[in-house]
Amino acid sequence: MKQSAMKAKAASSSTKTSTTSKASRAHPYVYNFGRQTDGNASMRELLGGKGANLAEMAAIGLPVPPGFTISTEVCTYFYAHDRSYPRALAGDVKTAIGLVEAQMKKTFGGKDNPLLVSVRSGARDSMPGMMDTILNLGLNDVTVEGLANISGNPRFAWDCYRRFIQMYGDVVMGVQAADEESHDPFHELLDALKKSLGKSQDSDLNAADLQALVAQYKELIRKRTGKAFPQDVYEQLWGAIGAVFGSWKNERAILYRQQYGIPAEWGTAVNVQAMVFGNAGDDSATGVAFTRDPANGEKSFYGEYLVNAQGEDVVAGVRTPKPIAAMEKELPESFAALEKVRTKLEKHFKDMQDFEFTIEKGRLFMLQTRNGKRTGLAAIRIAVEMVKEKLMDQRTALLKIPAESVDSLLVPIFDSKSQKEAQMIGKGLPAGPGAATGRIAFTAAAAEIESRKGNKVVLCRTETSPDDLKGMLYSQGILTTRGGVSSHAALVARQLGKVCVCGAGEVTINYEKRTLSAGGVVLQEGDYISINGTTGAIYKGLIESADSEVKRVLEGAMKPEKSYTYELFQTVMEWSDKYRRLRIRTNADTPAMAETAVAYGAEGIGLCRTEHMFFEGDRIDYMRQMILAVDQVQRQEALKKLLPFQRKDFVGLFKAMAGRPVTIRLLDPPLHEFLPQDDAVRRQLADKLGLPLEFVIERIKALHEENPMLGCRGCRLGILYPEITEMQVRAVFEAAASVMTAKNPVAVNPEIMIPLVGFKQELADQLAIVHRVAKEVMNKHGIEIDYIVGTMVEVPRAAITAEEIAVQAQFFSFGTNDLTQTTLGLSRDDMGLFYDEYQRKEIYNKNPFASLDQTGVGKLMQFAVENGRRSRPDLKLGICGEHAGDPDSIEFCHRLGLHYVSCSPPRVPIARLAAAQAALREKK
Ligand code: ADP
Ligand code: MG
Ligand code: MG
Repeated sequence: MKQSAMKAKAASSSTKTSTTSKASRAHPYVYNFGRQTDGNASMRELLGGKGANLAEMAAIGLPVPPGFTISTEVCTYFYAHDRSYPRALAGDVKTAIGLVEAQMKKTFGGKDNPLLVSVRSGARDSMPGMMDTILNLGLNDVTVEGLANISGNPRFAWDCYRRFIQMYGDVVMGVQAADEESHDPFHELLDALKKSLGKSQDSDLNAADLQALVAQYKELIRKRTGKAFPQDVYEQLWGAIGAVFGSWKNERAILYRQQYGIPAEWGTAVNVQAMVFGNAGDDSATGVAFTRDPANGEKSFYGEYLVNAQGEDVVAGVRTPKPIAAMEKELPESFAALEKVRTKLEKHFKDMQDFEFTIEKGRLFMLQTRNGKRTGLAAIRIAVEMVKEKLMDQRTALLKIPAESVDSLLVPIFDSKSQKEAQMIGKGLPAGPGAATGRIAFTAAAAEIESRKGNKVVLCRTETSPDDLKGMLYSQGILTTRGGVSSHAALVARQLGKVCVCGAGEVTINYEKRTLSAGGVVLQEGDYISINGTTGAIYKGLIESADSEVKRVLEGAMKPEKSYTYELFQTVMEWSDKYRRLRIRTNADTPAMAETAVAYGAEGIGLCRTEHMFFEGDRIDYMRQMILAVDQVQRQEALKKLLPFQRKDFVGLFKAMAGRPVTIRLLDPPLHEFLPQDDAVRRQLADKLGLPLEFVIERIKALHEENPMLGCRGCRLGILYPEITEMQVRAVFEAAASVMTAKNPVAVNPEIMIPLVGFKQELADQLAIVHRVAKEVMNKHGIEIDYIVGTMVEVPRAAITAEEIAVQAQFFSFGTNDLTQTTLGLSRDDMGLFYDEYQRKEIYNKNPFASLDQTGVGKLMQFAVENGRRSRPDLKLGICGEHAGDPDSIEFCHRLGLHYVSCSPPRVPIARLAAAQAALREKK
């Protein structure tokens, strides 16, 4: 009732033009929260995550300062109309401000009791720190006096004013540090003032000091921009709204979106909310908390707060905050209220929450909540434990774990012996678990350069800001000297799965001298440093790393009951196996790789690249001899020497796979990979083969290809030299026979795969050899070997003629690495020149070689599946490109109805979970 009455009022108070535009728009532009709440948690698309959850919290009775959200559709409009707004918006905003004024009993721009607001961004998925926030908006030279009077605290009023000018100057008027190494100009003025007054803390400054600072700030803005700091509160408000919408397309937001695959079309919402003040005295505070530990997932209250401060002080890492546990003593009543909120949030949102709060004169206010970002380890632990606590069921829990995060249970940790021997030089807060060793880089740029040289890097900064994101991506680990476990560095590290130690107070970084000193040791940029993100310890030099607990258990080096991490891993894997439909195979060329993969849960080999078996030791020379051979006699001589090696390798693989299917791809190397380019090596080869050097050089010249990727490779090689195919097939079947007839016989399930087929005639040519040799070997040994023959679909023509090809092929395996190269007309090794630009312009949302191009390559796959099945309904279907380890691509393969995905051994656990998630999402 109340709500609709309010809306009617809003409409009638709008200008005439708004009536027409209102009729044409699907949704309101503005949604209130507070005493009247128009939105809820399910409306993230329209309200952004922050706005939707503010509405939800207000609706379930949590203390949220009133405000309103301008929808993401306005953002879309803004960019579609040359950065302007729908005409009705101004009126709608004014109405909504009126509603907040009424609830707060304050007036926006009022000189007696002024209403101040925050203006905050909020995208559908949270993008912490990527976009801009402005606090204390509504202050000017007049209202600041009003605030001083009514609060009886001039110091507080002037502190709010100087903070507001600082943020507004930075975010809206662009008064910022000149570069990465210089300081923020506002901070510089603040520091200079403190110095001249002989005061060390911000809190030592009194009202008069701050008033002087405000004058300096305004002067700075005038000097840098040629414009005065705006006094009109609505001008301030629209400036801030524009800046927040504008920040959707700032550089760091774009980079962040690329990293997380967030589409540029989504846009951000803008939240305008009445200010509450954590800086109103010693009974006031602000903080950030997690309902559970986001680093390791433990069910303990986790977070930090600062007394007499405003929210961004905690996040920015300017002052190192106190752990939340200290609040129990310092502000016991507020702490009790906070504990209640903690429980209520988890019960309601049914997930670990990361929330922001402010205490104004002992009264608790909620400013934000969201599902907390967590490390992979924490994601798994929280999901498993919440199922035990009956907060969620197995299916929900599985969907809550980012499939990639399983990796964090498998990554190496420091070798305990080396860690003991290393010199510990300091300690910080453990904020991103794991072990990192690398060269010190003090700037994002230095980290990038070092990493491009192929070196490991630890980014060391006093604190990080969103501009450091790129440097963080290039680093193994991140070390900061200031800021707590909810600082920017910690937050981003957790999300990126980077090792992080933060707030290491006793470490000093000197950017000018490019040194890091701690524990009496001085390290230079480029020196090695090691950090343990699980304990917070910092070490001088390089430390060897060791296998994770899960890996040790899987390899039998540790008892399963000794490792809780393993128990968590195992639980998630068992649940996954229960729900997934896709089978998981692995790409493995050696028995050792195969064994690892089986321990991780692989159900077969989807790709054994036989050419990898030719690189080792003497084999490469026989291989070269074979390639250089001028006639069949010479070639067969070389092949005869290779046969026993191949046979032995296959025996090992078959034994390791114990009856599971093994897909063996016949030789597919670009020839040049085998031929020496180096003169000395050529001479050696000539000597070894007893050939004249000139002959070797001539042959290599004759075999030269302009574009080997599209040259004589794959089945073309086997067609040209049938004796190669024959040798390989013989090796496979002889190995199978020997394993099957051994004293302890092992079942064998070979699948022969012909590479790079585009014509059915190519397949027919090679198939004839396979079947003939198989029969010969089987007859000789008097046994039957169950085998199938199929092809790799990796050129578009194979997909296009799938119906013809499937007449002979018993299976298709999508070789999406080559299929992507050939479909996009793009060599993976030559995309360096333009790739960055393509990313920047958001032409590729994701690297097409890492995540399947579903609309292009995927369409071909779909066509091949449908048409292949037409001529062979029981056609076996799989994928063996690197995409098979990518969760999004796995989901796509599930939808296509493939039978299996085949990824590298360490990605098998990720694939198991991703396959389960694909099945669960489909049911939803
Ligand atoms: P981010 O998305 O980067 O976390 P926020 O929009 O949440 O940015 O704002 C940054 C900080 O400002 C938060 O820590 C929050 O506590 C504080 N803040 C935002 N709005 C208000 C408000 N209305 N009153 C008091 N503090 C606020
Ligand atoms: Mg926030
Ligand atoms: Mg290929």
